[in-house]
Amino acid sequence: MAKPPAPPRPTVDLPAHDARVRLTRKRRKVVFRKLRALDPKPLAEAAAEEHAAVFARVRCGDCARCCQTISPIFTDRDIPKVARAVGLRPAEFTERYLRLDEDHDYVLKGSPCPFLGDDKSCMIYDDRPKACREYPHTDSPRQRQLLDLTERNVEVCPAAYEVVERVARRLLGLGFEEGEGGAGRG
Ligand code: SF4
Ligand code: SF4
Repeated sequence: MAKPPAPPRPTVDLPAHDARVRLTRKRRKVVFRKLRALDPKPLAEAAAEEHAAVFARVRCGDCARCCQTISPIFTDRDIPKVARAVGLRPAEFTERYLRLDEDHDYVLKGSPCPFLGDDKSCMIYDDRPKACREYPHTDSPRQRQLLDLTERNVEVCPAAYEVVERVARRLLGLGFEEGEGGAGRG
């Protein structure tokens, strides 16, 4: 009998991501400060291209870190749609699953997301909130305004980390690792 094909190699290594997040904390601050000084248009264009390149390779099904650790915002449009998908009225859904955060946005009461399956798939994929569809937002034309959020997201999302590092290398000639370019002097 022929040997069964090996399962595809995971496209995400979360322990390695966590290690690099710890090691590059200071350096990332410098890189993000320099990114904030760039023109918004070339920044957004470079980010959109690098986002497409990274997500052509990364399978979110190998990861699900965002769904396990942070909550999307549920807008007034999301709530009826998601409520219908899980067979609840909007008020019941809100009462059961959501709370208001400090910015008065509805977010999940806890993590991981209750709609994350054991196989790391989203049980409400076609009806998931807009914030889930757009996460980690690295292809947004509003990239410049989103840099504070992106700076937090690179700690969660290995793909966002990679997108921003590729953008920084491309536009600034700098990576996140010590010794790459001159970020330490920034
Ligand atoms: S709704 Fe789906 S995509 Fe959004 S956090 Fe939950 S499991 Fe993840
Ligand atoms: S968006 Fe990022 S954190 Fe979320 S599953 Fe995909 S790679 Fe992982």
